Amino acid sequence: MKEVYTLADLEDWQQLADDHEPPIRLGVFGSPVAHSRSPEMQNAALAACGLPMQYARFEIAAEELARAFELARAVDFVGVNLTIPHKIVALGLVDAVDDFARSAGAVNTVRFERGAASATNTDGPGFAAAIHDDFGVALRGLRVVVLGAGGAARAIAMQCAHDGCGGLMLANRTAARAQQLAADVQQAYGAVVEVVSLSDHAVRGADLLVNTTSVGLRASDPPLLSRGSIRRDLMVYDTVYGTAATPLLVAARDAGARNANGLSMLLHQGALAFQTWFDCAAPLREMAGALGV
Ligand code: NAP
Repeated sequence: MKEVYTLADLEDWQQLADDHEPPIRLGVFGSPVAHSRSPEMQNAALAACGLPMQYARFEIAAEELARAFELARAVDFVGVNLTIPHKIVALGLVDAVDDFARSAGAVNTVRFERGAASATNTDGPGFAAAIHDDFGVALRGLRVVVLGAGGAARAIAMQCAHDGCGGLMLANRTAARAQQLAADVQQAYGAVVEVVSLSDHAVRGADLLVNTTSVGLRASDPPLLSRGSIRRDLMVYDTVYGTAATPLLVAARDAGARNANGLSMLLHQGALAFQTWFDCAAPLREMAGALGV
């Protein structure tokens, strides 16, 4: 199996089929996608459940997504996960979307069945489960600051409102996207959402700070907030995951604040995706073991 497949591989899938035993029938579409740890986790789950298929990475550019969906369906894929930059655009490329994903305006899990593609968003509930695992708290009543307004932020902000958080503040480089997300959350749940500038002031009065921007994916990325802005009593969650701690997590550690990276969210959104594809509970222990969490 290759580390990363491309659209050209999908076009030529029958030719490659001999190299895939058991066959690849699930995957993650994204760009960049090489860093994704979903294959480790999902292949452990498939093996644990005795399902004779594999999950792979696919480097798919934004303009290739519609064709990639067509091909995945044609070669009998069970489903796919979506990551940067597909979560929002994919909404218009599927046949059915559940209520939570529709209100989030973003999808991360697609199931192909009887010629149709149905989509859901497991990032939101996966995030809530991660916060519970890492910090031992529910979102209900928490004052949450979300940095970012992309696909992950949409799911997380909607989940916070859905679960009755005590306050929601959004800060994004492009303020207009944060304004739009705030309006969408208000419309979906009637929650009052504040848009704040992406600066140290954003975290004042918050219980939980969540980074959903891609800043921190590269070790050379500059921190979004200054070190001094992190208080000791703040919980800091960075959806970015990797081998090294992001600048935000380093700042949280230095301040003595509780902090966690995105591996727990990856685990829980992946377990819920598995459940979506196979209508059965996911083997969480094996999946966590594959991620080393
Ligand atoms: P996306 O839709 O492309 O959104 C990217 C966000 O990052 C936007 O808010 C963007 O701001 C912001 N951004 C990008 N570069 C920036 C910079 N230099 N300075 C400030 N802000 C910047 O991506 P996504 O799908 O939401 O994913 C975002 C991150 O979440 C990724 O790192 C991904 O790995 C992580 N994630 C993790 C999990 C998990 O399970 N742990 C799940 C989903 C996503 P603008 O609007 O101004 O462009």
